[in-house]
Amino acid sequence: MSVLTFKFGGTSMGDADIIKGVAQIILDAQAEGHQVLTVVSAMTGVTNTLLNAARAAAEGKTEIYIKATADLRDRHHETARELVQDAAAQEALLAELHRLIDDFQDLCRSIAVLGEVTNRGLDAVSSIGERLSARLLAAHLQERGAAALPVDATTLIVTDDTFQNAAPLMELTRARVQEQIVPRLKAGILPVVTGFIGATENGITTTLGRGGSDYSAAILADCVDADELWIWTDVDGVMTTDPRLVPDARVIPTLSYREVGELAFFGAKVLHPRTILPVMERGMPIRVRNTFNPTHPGTLIQPEPRLTEGTAKAITIIRDVHLITVAGRGMMGVPGIAGRTFTAVARESVNLLVISQSSSEQSFCFIVPDSDSARAVAAIREELALELERRDVDRVWVQEDVVIITVVGAGMRSTPGVAARIFGVLADAGVNVTVIAQGSSESSISLVIDSSDDEAAVRALHTLVANNGDQASSSA
Ligand code: ADP
Ligand code: ASP
Ligand code: MG
Repeated sequence: MSVLTFKFGGTSMGDADIIKGVAQIILDAQAEGHQVLTVVSAMTGVTNTLLNAARAAAEGKTEIYIKATADLRDRHHETARELVQDAAAQEALLAELHRLIDDFQDLCRSIAVLGEVTNRGLDAVSSIGERLSARLLAAHLQERGAAALPVDATTLIVTDDTFQNAAPLMELTRARVQEQIVPRLKAGILPVVTGFIGATENGITTTLGRGGSDYSAAILADCVDADELWIWTDVDGVMTTDPRLVPDARVIPTLSYREVGELAFFGAKVLHPRTILPVMERGMPIRVRNTFNPTHPGTLIQPEPRLTEGTAKAITIIRDVHLITVAGRGMMGVPGIAGRTFTAVARESVNLLVISQSSSEQSFCFIVPDSDSARAVAAIREELALELERRDVDRVWVQEDVVIITVVGAGMRSTPGVAARIFGVLADAGVNVTVIAQGSSESSISLVIDSSDDEAAVRALHTLVANNGDQASSSA
């Protein structure tokens, strides 16, 4: 018998029929003798609706949150009525859903009065989606005779107060989970915990960042000492590239933590980039599986890379980024310009995604999220004001129409000629590479290219993966 943590994403909570399928997956696992802790996302699209409504309220567009309130009520009530037939249970569930949606409306009303919304306010509003969905699933499990318990993660996951992107305080979280969840799991209870959200030590609601339910599940898996973490989603597993871009993308049977970490960091939406952090140290296996195709074995993520020699395993893409270049002939003799540039950018809390220096030392460049690039450039120009005046640095400039494409695979490290093959297929596809950088873990190579070449580049690079006969044999 094992302790399993299951996480179901937004599409897996899409409507009543899909939620019934989710319940079946949980009940089947319990019938096989496992203890199951479940973490859920909000129903598809709900987090977007909540955030849009809050932002619109801040701009005084009251009609948007009023419509959102009505839509959320309709959708959750309809789903509740399909999931729970017992009259008393249905009435209790509807009352709970009503109360939460009233809270949402009250929050939006306050935001509209204030005329602004803080990150803290956005977290309060966006946390409501998961509070609704966890209650729906738990009530349905109860209807089917299981001892299910909806749990708001605000009572379990203690975080710092970085609203919108909070970090867990693991010791405090572990103590609460061990006290409140572990005994219940042992007693055969099925906890259904809200993903995405937590609270500060003072009880103020926070969120872990968009797509953060994967991370919630990993945190809880660690704190209950789970044997495995299973991420249930809407594709058969982690794939060789985004299946929406390349239809013949295939499931990758096994990946190492490091490989999946690079994949997630460089844009594969299937896992939140921080998911592996809590489970890595203890080597807990993660499985990525399909709610809509539960017999498929999915992807197994484990500590040791299973090296597929000489091969790229996956291609990822990040859009919505800008390339910033700092250049000047006089830079060669002046030490510390790069260091000061990066420090200035870090002071603005801007994330650097890829960094590259030209061998001539006459320029270096890096990638930042587009929403941060103006701030980053202003900070650099201020930091290097003297050098710019003296013409040691000639220019700091931004290229907007770029994307990062990353080739991931731990086996590339030991194989000569990988870069040559990458450039070969891109040249054949007529794609020009602006920047190339190797990931620090040597499990990835990132390229910055013109955004108009994005799909051509992904398809061309995917042939390097598709031509790799080792893929199938690397199956666990
Ligand atoms: P969930 O709601 O279950 O968390 P997400 O939408 O966050 O699901 O992530 C799953 C989606 O990620 C897939 O439907 C797919 O379109 C997209 N995706 C992007 N890159 C990959 C990849 N390499 N492998 C699998 N899915 C990917
Ligand atoms: N519901 C949240 C979001 O849409 C968290 C998640 O789905 O993982 O970002
Ligand atoms: Mg997700």
